[in-house]
Amino acid sequence: MTARILNGNAIRDQIYSELAGEVSSLDAAGIKPGLAAVLVGDNPASKLYVNSKIAACAKLGLASFMITPPATITTGDLLALVGELNRRDDVDGILVQMPLPVQIDAKKILDAVDPAKDVDGFHPINVGRLVAGRPNLVACTPAGVMEILRRSEIPLEGAEAVVMGRSDIVGKPMALLLMHANATVTICHSKTRNLKETVRRADIVVAAMGRAAMVTPDYIRPGATVIDVGQNVIKDAAEAERIFANFPEKIDSFRAKGSVLVGDVHPDVIRTAGAITPVPGGVGPLTIAMLMSNTVRAARLRRGAQIPAAAGVRD
Ligand code: NAP
Repeated sequence: MTARILNGNAIRDQIYSELAGEVSSLDAAGIKPGLAAVLVGDNPASKLYVNSKIAACAKLGLASFMITPPATITTGDLLALVGELNRRDDVDGILVQMPLPVQIDAKKILDAVDPAKDVDGFHPINVGRLVAGRPNLVACTPAGVMEILRRSEIPLEGAEAVVMGRSDIVGKPMALLLMHANATVTICHSKTRNLKETVRRADIVVAAMGRAAMVTPDYIRPGATVIDVGQNVIKDAAEAERIFANFPEKIDSFRAKGSVLVGDVHPDVIRTAGAITPVPGGVGPLTIAMLMSNTVRAARLRRGAQIPAAAGVRD
């Protein structure tokens, strides 16, 4: 058996074309949604992420503002900067790229973002709304996973779902979204006993631990849906050869580039699962799509536009 591939790029494109319609309706109403991205210092991975978010804004016709304070900025100065973005009327969404330098109190910064502009969905008010079943701006990666599941018509009601990982940005909101969609949810973490047996019960597995290829086929009930959130860069040749033993094209690509991306799910799971998200090209593309969706939504709600929502959380 080979699993159905849940193609994140195709779903992202579908969401973008729906959002494009919403953006042009907003444009007709004189509203251009704007995203401000705060990139502190010069962490190369963060730069790459922020650049792709800015590029997505350009593609969709959203305004974007990149603010790049130095790595030496203080918590006080960063708070002042966030306050200024909160007050700007041309800014509908604010994202502060993580991680922040050690001298910065990251929680204080995230809490300072106006919840109405919190397009990452990290503010306690937005987390609380999600818990209460009245979601507004929801964390992008788990919201993207829900789009994959819904648009791929994976049945959620009454399904056994296991979420591996309990982080604030992925695992916790993921579990809440699945629960609100009437799945029966188990959350696993590093202290979970009988992990393999627990995961094997699941109709739907969401793997978000940051552990390369940890979920091997023996974790997966044949036919289950497997969502792989993990993104791990492998630089060690022996490890790449071990993980991709049955995928010679990946080993060739490793040899050409010196690294290869692998999820938290072992590639061999493709022969056990019923449906699976690939890495790359699965969950990754949805994260930015949902950031765009949240920005458009924030603009629509904050500016009181009477335009129906396209993708993401509906009103
Ligand atoms: P995180 O904050 O490090 O959280 C990892 C979670 O996994 C923790 O809850 C941890 O348990 C649990 N865990 C770690 N090792 C485990 C093990 N051996 N068995 C069971 N549970 C284990 O990570 P994150 O930020 O949620 O990210 C998770 C992964 O998703 C990473 O690979 C990250 O790169 C990827 N990610 C991808 C996207 C995307 O757009 N595709 C977005 C965000 C994150 P404890 O709580 O007990 O420590």
